Amino acid sequence: MNTYKAPVRDMSFALFDVIQAEAIYAKLGIEAAQRDIMDAALEEAAKFNENVLAPLNSVGDREGCTFDKATGNVKTPTGFKEAYTQFVEGGWAGITARAELGGMDLPESFGVLMKEMIDAANLSWGNYPLLSHGATEALKHHGEPWQQEVFLKAIVEGRWTGTMCLTEPHCGSDLGLLKTRAEPIADGKYAITGTKIFITGGEHDFTDNIVHLVLARLPDAPAGTKGISLFIVPKMKVARDGSVGERNAVRCGSIEHKMGIHGSVTCVMNFDGAEGYLIGQPNKGLNAMFTMMNTARLAVGIQGLGLIDRAYQNALRYSRDRLQMRALSGAKEPTKPADPIIVHPDIRRMLLTSKALGEGGRLLAYHAATLVDVMERTTDDAERKQADDLLSFLTPIVKACLTEWSVECTYNSLQCFGGHGYVAEWGMEQLARDARITTIYEGTTQIQALDLLGRKVMQQQGVGLKQFLGMIQQFCEQNIANAPLAEFIGPLAVLAKEYTDTTLAIGKRAAANPDEIGAASVDYLFYSGYVALAYWWAKSVAVAEAGDYPADFKTAKRETARFFFARILPRTRMHKAGIEAGAHSLLALDAALFDS
Ligand SMILES: Cc1cc2nc3c(=O)[nH]c(=O)nc-3n(C[C@H](O)[C@H](O)[C@H](O)COP(=O)(O)OP(=O)(O)OC[C@H]3O[C@@H](n4cnc5c(N)ncnc54)[C@H](O)[C@@H]3O)c2cc1C
Repeated sequence: MNTYKAPVRDMSFALFDVIQAEAIYAKLGIEAAQRDIMDAALEEAAKFNENVLAPLNSVGDREGCTFDKATGNVKTPTGFKEAYTQFVEGGWAGITARAELGGMDLPESFGVLMKEMIDAANLSWGNYPLLSHGATEALKHHGEPWQQEVFLKAIVEGRWTGTMCLTEPHCGSDLGLLKTRAEPIADGKYAITGTKIFITGGEHDFTDNIVHLVLARLPDAPAGTKGISLFIVPKMKVARDGSVGERNAVRCGSIEHKMGIHGSVTCVMNFDGAEGYLIGQPNKGLNAMFTMMNTARLAVGIQGLGLIDRAYQNALRYSRDRLQMRALSGAKEPTKPADPIIVHPDIRRMLLTSKALGEGGRLLAYHAATLVDVMERTTDDAERKQADDLLSFLTPIVKACLTEWSVECTYNSLQCFGGHGYVAEWGMEQLARDARITTIYEGTTQIQALDLLGRKVMQQQGVGLKQFLGMIQQFCEQNIANAPLAEFIGPLAVLAKEYTDTTLAIGKRAAANPDEIGAASVDYLFYSGYVALAYWWAKSVAVAEAGDYPADFKTAKRETARFFFARILPRTRMHKAGIEAGAHSLLALDAALFDS
């Protein structure tokens, strides 16, 4: 059976000991964020996720969602709705929302730990609160006070859920192409008409109302992304005083049959003059949507993290139990008919890859989440700008690397099971199928890579990158005389220097040929991800060895860091070669000759 146990100790080590979040929270004046309170909340969260959500994961996969064409209603898998009720009654829906909205006012970065557990326990189920959280962010930052009172509060309290309606049949990565129309009608309302596809949670049976956040064009809007506005379109009509009226003219037309995440419903949504309200300024919808997308991108990165961990935990248990063949160096368990497969070097390579990418990735993601807290709560403009720059730089790395690594790690973990991984019984093939979507939705890996290199590094003159490298250089300087850390500090310092040179070289080539950005971007993204993990692994060892931790914990951190530096960090050589190969080898073959 496929199970999940929340890695509470490593989560707490990452957030509080390595990232030192408590000091960040104290500086930001977040009173509710005391470590003992949060450690207790983590234990409670672990119980809910391990006992309620995790057992429903395979149920969701087997049953999927069902669509009633006559009514347009969707039924989620057995137990999903009840789990949502428990989630709401436990107060989990609003843990990071402000107290005045009925939330618990805990930091966003703490909410991320809960999120990691949910995603590991049941990724499909987790998509419903994920989309609600994205809608919360857009309404919090761009909604009018009455919109916050009526819609935001209902979502925070878990009475309604949110969706994000961007994609149309002809418009996915390129939102500038969208056609959905918004016509002004009476009382400051708009009539929204168009078709959105692939809408997660577009229809379901968790709540009576659903708050769709919809991108559409006003009649006089300029072409492209400069002419997009954002609208609230509730499933049931809602007046400004919060009273709920009749059914709105928005309906689910059908649901998709997918490779994975069967319990997460993916809908075609038809808007036939549905009544809606504008959020923020006309034609500035993309700004509001980016608020939502940035949160959602970090959240999808966390989905990758959760999947890596769940797959790893199950592969580890199996590799300790499964007896096949003897170790090449002689029997390790001679009284048994064969040795457990964990003795075999290549099984260890697969397990250690997941451990290294998972625990290192946890630090990368949690650190980014603390920057969200700084941005939202600091009163110092310079500090906010600094956090914003670094977060903007890190967001595409978190999203794309963690999700791509989840594909790699769920496949490796499946491989540890051999044929038993390929059949449904052990739940490993579900994890591999579920992981596959994470590199696609919320902006594909290619789009994240262009965002990183084209926008965050080149267009913004590397403001975030400079901070990131500054962080690494400072750590290296502080530890220059730390002999036990020398094996990590040396290579890390060399990479930090090389990173700058590599970036400058791309900039030079791109000045002559803009295609160089697209040609280098995905290699650059992975290169960045591995450098970031090298930093976090070196720092983990430094913190573990200086602290009062059990000897086994310290040994595991050091040996995993050694594995990372010896066997994963060298991937930067391959990515550097890819970056330096330039655009020519990609563009030389005429598109017409690809089948010649
Ligand atoms: C299960 C599921 C749930 C989803 N949930 C939602 C949701 O809730 N709300 C919503 O609005 N959307 C949702 N989506 C849509 C999702 O965000 C899009 O599928 C995704 O953004 C990609 O768009 P597309 O499918 O149209 O692919 P396209 O944009 O057509 O891209 C096709 C391929 O071309 C690549 N590509 C495109 N442009 C470039 C470029 N310039 N350089 C390099 N490569 C490029 C892409 O990376 C991709 O590999 C969901 C999709 C799925 C499958």
